[in-house]
Amino acid sequence: MPEPGMFPPTRQAALERLAGFVPAAGRAYVEGRNLDPGPGEPGAVSRLSPYLRHRVISEAEVVEAVLQAQGPAGAEKFIQEVLWRTYWKGWLEMRPSTWSRFLETRDRQQEGLADWRALADAEAGRTGIEGFDDWARELAQTGYLHNHARMWFASIWIFTLRLPWALGADLFLRRLVDADPASNTLSWRWVAGLQTQGKTYLATRENIARFTGGRFAPSGLATEAPALVEPAPEPPAGLPSAAGTPPPGPFLLLATPEDLTPDLGGIDPARAVAAVVTPDTRLSFGEAARQFVAEAAIDAADRLARRVAGPVTLLDHLDVGSLVAAAQAARVRTLVTPYAPVGPTAGALAQAARGLEAEGLRLVQVRRDWDTRLWPHAMAGFFAFRKQIPALLQQERSR
Ligand SMILES: Cc1cc2nc3c(=O)[nH]c(=O)nc-3n(C[C@H](O)[C@H](O)[C@H](O)COP(=O)(O)OP(=O)(O)OC[C@H]3O[C@@H](n4cnc5c(N)ncnc54)[C@H](O)[C@@H]3O)c2cc1C
Repeated sequence: MPEPGMFPPTRQAALERLAGFVPAAGRAYVEGRNLDPGPGEPGAVSRLSPYLRHRVISEAEVVEAVLQAQGPAGAEKFIQEVLWRTYWKGWLEMRPSTWSRFLETRDRQQEGLADWRALADAEAGRTGIEGFDDWARELAQTGYLHNHARMWFASIWIFTLRLPWALGADLFLRRLVDADPASNTLSWRWVAGLQTQGKTYLATRENIARFTGGRFAPSGLATEAPALVEPAPEPPAGLPSAAGTPPPGPFLLLATPEDLTPDLGGIDPARAVAAVVTPDTRLSFGEAARQFVAEAAIDAADRLARRVAGPVTLLDHLDVGSLVAAAQAARVRTLVTPYAPVGPTAGALAQAARGLEAEGLRLVQVRRDWDTRLWPHAMAGFFAFRKQIPALLQQERSR
């Protein structure tokens, strides 16, 4: 179970973390971001990921704060990292079958696994590999790993331990507070050589020793990382058209774990006659994320209660019956919710929409401008996406 206190699940905590980080988001970030000082030690990275993942804070806010403080040149590297998140989200949104294929692969690899003990040892940090075992325990205790540790861990999992990649990605999903279908699946695929075809990531003793400040220098690591092979992903489709705007009339606002600050995404809570916030445990992958979302949802409901005219309630399960009852109590026929990208919440909303329609109710998903503008550019690799960043940000800021 993650240690309490590492990610206080409130917007206030996210804003304070951002404010504390901004002065160091320039040169200090560039110079220190690859160094993993270990759990509990101050480091150069922001540790904003659980807040960004559940949109307790938005990419636009974070980028704007860093740009204001550091200017475009000073902020460049940090913004690039934030835009990795946007890129992965857009990439998956236009190729949703990569997510369903990951789930199928995970299930198939589980069924076909011959050595359950090796898997259990890797998950529990009992492999005898220095560093790897420590990261496995750190992940279980904190729900977080530094980006470099995630890369080393995934590489050792795939190329040294020769464990099935999708079971490693599944472990991360179950343990990370920031567990994300796009960032996690596509990063694991990238390490394995499935994402940028043929290009893998090999963790080496020297690199680990250098960037852990000498804490770890594991021996016996694989010296080669031959790319795994899979059929190529589907070509990118356009973004799904659901990017609605809130209707002119009264509506019920629905907030899910995908976006706990709907007011930042073009939905004005003052126009909602009531709101429902769901921390539905089935929409998170593991206990760490569930705990974070459960408390962040209470915080979101408190914030919305100050803006929404009518009652704001917490809903344990995103089920049609409860949504219909909430809409009837609010005397509305339209529900408005932030757009949910590929993952369990999108599936649950699609199902809910069908059930609501059968009751004569409409569910409108509103996609954030940031996503609508930036996601379509995730057509090919990140470097092509990155080239367009200055122009895209310029447009975004001038709106
Ligand atoms: C195998 C593997 C699995 C990963 N799984 C996840 C995941 O499930 N959820 C997740 O949010 N990130 C994931 N990442 C990306 C990255 O490791 C984390 O976002 C980052 O470590 C979070 O720490 P931070 O907030 O201090 O990052 P900072 O360096 O402070 O970056 C700021 C923000 O930019 C975004 N970001 C930074 N680097 C990346 C990246 N490489 N990819 C995507 N977004 C990035 C994050 O939202 C992060 O909070 C994964 C990376 C790897 C290699």
